[in-house]
Amino acid sequence: MEIVILAVVIAVVALGAISGLVVSSRRKKQQLPPPPPTTPSVTAPPAEPQVGEDAETPRDEERRTIEEVGLPDSGATLVEEPPVAEPAAPAAPEVEVPEPTAGRLVRLRARLSRSQNSLGKGLLTLLSREHLDEDTWEEIEDTLLTADVGVQPTQELVERLRERVRVLGTRTPDELRALLREELLNLIGTEADRTVNTANGLGVNGQEIPGVVMVVGVNGTGKTTTTGKLARVLVADGKSVVLGAADTFRAAAVDQLQTWGDRVGARTVRGPEEGDPASVAFDSVKEGISEGADVVLIDTAGRLHTKTGLMDELGKVKRVVEKHGPVGEVLLVLDATTGQNGLVQARVFAEVVDITGVVLTKLDGTAKGGIIVAVQRELGVPVKLVGLGEGADDLAPFEPEAFVDALIGD
Ligand code: GDP
Repeated sequence: MEIVILAVVIAVVALGAISGLVVSSRRKKQQLPPPPPTTPSVTAPPAEPQVGEDAETPRDEERRTIEEVGLPDSGATLVEEPPVAEPAAPAAPEVEVPEPTAGRLVRLRARLSRSQNSLGKGLLTLLSREHLDEDTWEEIEDTLLTADVGVQPTQELVERLRERVRVLGTRTPDELRALLREELLNLIGTEADRTVNTANGLGVNGQEIPGVVMVVGVNGTGKTTTTGKLARVLVADGKSVVLGAADTFRAAAVDQLQTWGDRVGARTVRGPEEGDPASVAFDSVKEGISEGADVVLIDTAGRLHTKTGLMDELGKVKRVVEKHGPVGEVLLVLDATTGQNGLVQARVFAEVVDITGVVLTKLDGTAKGGIIVAVQRELGVPVKLVGLGEGADDLAPFEPEAFVDALIGD
């Protein structure tokens, strides 16, 4: 009997010791620092709820406990528990579906500022005068110059209008509208390829690489916003996108870009604050290649363009990216409300990188539409996109016909 009791006591003690060991080994395991993240600079779109989001999982609870006791948490994944039955994966937070891009300009035409409208209508009114004398032609010229069309294009347009009106003789309002429409389209150009080139490139190793688009411009023009909106345009067109937050001098810009990316499920590659923009740009293309993305969009630093060093830096970003393969598109973002100043910026940027397309932002503001003509002349590259508001889908492919129709009414 005594032997039986002794055996039971030994068994109980042994069991206790074993379970104590298990618990302590679990605790120890929890205190281990988390493994380093495999790619620390790459932040994935939220496939699972993040801390601070609504859906709370047991893992979130555990993470909070660890944070409360001050254990290191690099932001990487937590120490893996033994494979106990995992709760069902929480539903992924909703990724937005951006609006289709076709016809955006038509949808947004009411946003074109009143000044654009008065340009078209003003011209029509002047041309409708019974006697088109020298004073009237001068007024037409002034109207165009005030709308930022630029001296040479203005003279060309006035000359052509004079000639055609003379040939036409009597003019009906419809005839005049058609004539002005044609000549404005002539000035803006309908032949240029205005699609943003996002086609795959041929990498240095002979493999296909994602289309690479660099977005450049002075701070405040809407560069980061435009990069985010462009990501949406591409996603809406069925492409997968990686964003490169190479504006490393502005922490806010990096966060802002990531927010845009998260909203449409695009991965954002970021670097350390004030880190080398070229290295972030390089890494973002590397990431794009490794995940087989369609397009890599790189937001670049845009501090004052008058500082030679910074402009050189932009050239460096491009050269470093080209170590992977070609940059398919360099988009210059210009704030349309800055008029002539925008043209000066365009000139300076064009000296450093080969601009392949222009994005004119804030055409919903006090901008004068003529800047479209002037900037295309200045750079010899087409305006490809226009910004017509602060909303997420307020970036529209530029369509000359829709634009001119909005100017003169159809
Ligand atoms: P960045 O410094 O060039 O990167 O400029 P941001 O992208 O931060 O934009 C500067 C400001 O311009 C922000 O408040 C944007 O919302 C605003 N913005 C950008 N594009 C447009 C546009 O097309 N229309 C209007 N009204 N505001 C815009």
